[in-house]
Amino acid sequence: MKKPEKKLGFGFMRLPLLDAKNQTSIDVAQVEQMVDRFLERGFTYCDTAWMYHDFKSEETVGKALVDRHPRDAFTIATKMPDMMLKSKEQVPEIFAKQKEKLHVDAFDYYLVHDMNHVNYEKAKKYGAIDFLREKRKSGEIRCLGFSFHDTPEVLDRILEENPFFEFVQLQINYLDWESAGIQSHKCYDVATKHGLPVIVMEPVKGGTLANPPQNVKEMLHEAHPDWSPAEWAIRFAASLENVMVVLSGMSDLAQLDENTGFMQDFTPLTEADQALLLQAAEKIRAGIAIPCTGCRYCVEASKCPKNILIPNYFALFNTRKLMKRRDFSPEIEYYENYLSQGYGKASDCIACKSCERVCPQHIHISEWMPKLAENMENGQGF
Ligand code: SF4
Ligand code: SF4
Repeated sequence: MKKPEKKLGFGFMRLPLLDAKNQTSIDVAQVEQMVDRFLERGFTYCDTAWMYHDFKSEETVGKALVDRHPRDAFTIATKMPDMMLKSKEQVPEIFAKQKEKLHVDAFDYYLVHDMNHVNYEKAKKYGAIDFLREKRKSGEIRCLGFSFHDTPEVLDRILEENPFFEFVQLQINYLDWESAGIQSHKCYDVATKHGLPVIVMEPVKGGTLANPPQNVKEMLHEAHPDWSPAEWAIRFAASLENVMVVLSGMSDLAQLDENTGFMQDFTPLTEADQALLLQAAEKIRAGIAIPCTGCRYCVEASKCPKNILIPNYFALFNTRKLMKRRDFSPEIEYYENYLSQGYGKASDCIACKSCERVCPQHIHISEWMPKLAENMENGQGF
């Protein structure tokens, strides 16, 4: 398998928006500038998916990247949304539509999206894995892998049963590396044992590690005053030997400039720096309430009957919990803005758990909702 020369990948999942409340209002002019800069600096790996940006991301990649650059100047990765499948017929339909949206004849990398023990059975039931294997043989897929959110045991089983997969995409960041919930380290070891290169997603944990608590910021600043907290996080993932690419869902040109700057001639972290990050993880874990990455699967792959904007409320709640706020704060203003747009309140939750079935972080969302309501609607808690 041909590996990219540089370890940073451009994730098209948190693109700049013209209207912050509308995921489809992508600022294509800025994305074009970002794409141009990314390629100018010698980076090539671009990652999208069927449902990113309310199904608009692939189309944007087609316009901003594929239509404007020679086909051999970049590689494209996209994914089969196995969690959304309801019939066998959908698989070839989605695949054909992706080629149309992205304006390509073949995908350099193609992934079965978000494999876990439930989605794996679904992907088999609807023939997605067999179909994609045929596409790999015909050359419409140049490299076949899957993204994964489950235990190391499930990963091992999938790889034993499907030895033809060529790479795995895992959630790896310094906060989840030794966490009991995500088990990044153990999953990385399983992929390595099977001889598969790893693509890293969520290296900054949905932005959480770009803004860690003050005591962590100070600790990191003291060691390397010129590195931002996000840079530390990306460096951690990229320093792992078996990591082929670290994806960053870059949201503006400044972020892209920063990331491509330090990843251009990347050198791995020293052992002392790695140890410092694991200490930082302990400090952060003590402060964060809900480990939501903002992946939006609970909004896009599942439909809340009460229209509750789960990841947005969790992000607001986490900030309030870190700051120990019970009184009015900007987070409450945002919360009330969402409610006035017609979204459901945390207290409207009926605990149907439809969101929990698709949450890759296995968060007990319905148990958190009353706690959110207590704090953000009634000014109590903590
Ligand atoms: S458990 Fe609550 S938040 Fe989740 S889908 Fe059901 S009503 Fe919505
Ligand atoms: S609650 Fe789970 S599914 Fe929803 S955005 Fe957060 S991590 Fe993703």
